[in-house]
Parts: sequence; structure tokens; C-alpha cells
Amino acid sequence: MVHVGIGYDVHGLVAGRRLVLGGVEIPHAKGLDGHSDADALLHAITDAILGAVGEVDIGHLFPNTDPAWKNAPSRIFLEEAARRVKSRGGRIVNIDATLIAERPKIFPHLAAMKAHIAEALGLPVTRVGVKATTNETLGFVGREEGIAAMAVASVDLPENPNPES
Ligand code: MG
Repeated sequence: MVHVGIGYDVHGLVAGRRLVLGGVEIPHAKGLDGHSDADALLHAITDAILGAVGEVDIGHLFPNTDPAWKNAPSRIFLEEAARRVKSRGGRIVNIDATLIAERPKIFPHLAAMKAHIAEALGLPVTRVGVKATTNETLGFVGREEGIAAMAVASVDLPENPNPES
């Protein structure tokens, strides 16, 4: 049976941080602020996968008070979400996500992001969608104070999951 999950994340843009989105470092004057590498796209996708299998959200699995996740690559969180799908005998069908950023231009990096996400999840790249849009200069995204991401995941789970797994 196919289950769908949704994820959303925002991080503030600050000077002196790297900008990492979808596991890809993008040259820019500012980067995303956060405890981990603050990869809002991977966080949104992780939450979408966790939501599809009814797990607690990323902030509870990987608290920002835990020094283990200080500057951690968010791929760790994504891989853990995929592992939880597998442990229930499930498989991720597809992912789709949208980044909302005024600047920098995201489009040139989308292919690399998709490849990175697909590899982390063990999926063909054709099952990973990542798009980007601006916020038409409106609001905190428009003022370049932060970058937002939203994602959905569909996960095929057995109807009678083995309670042992
Ligand atoms: Mg986050």
C-alpha cells in the first residue's frame, strides 16, 4: 500500500556559513544557519519519508542539542529515514521537492542535487524530483533572509508489516 508523507523546512541565511542544498555546496556570499549543515532540502525530504512511515520528525530523531549532529552532513539523516523504511519491508517509490530561494540561482545545481539524493536513497535518479522557484521578492525568502524547502515522499509498505522488524 502506498503511503504519502510531507516535509517542510526553513533555515536562515547568514554570513560565514557554507550553503549546502541537496548535499551540494553552492558558491554564495551567505550560507544556511543551523546545528547540522542546515541543508533545508534534505531536511524536508527526510521529514517527508519519516512522515510517510508514521515516524517522529527529524528534529526529534536528531535533536539540535546533540553535539553528535554539530555540522553533520544531512545525508546521515536522509539515510536513516531510508533505513527505517527498509526495516519495515517498505520501499521508497518516489520523492518530489521544491526549493524556494530568491538567490542564488538554484537551477544549475538541480541535476547534482538529484543525483546525490538518489544515491543516498538507493533510487534511480528518475524517481527524484527537485525543482526551484523564487518567492517573487516577497516575505523572508524574498528578502533573502532564508531558504525554504518542501517535499513529498511516497513509500510502498506491506499491508501487514512484520512487528518483529
Ligand atoms: Mg532543518
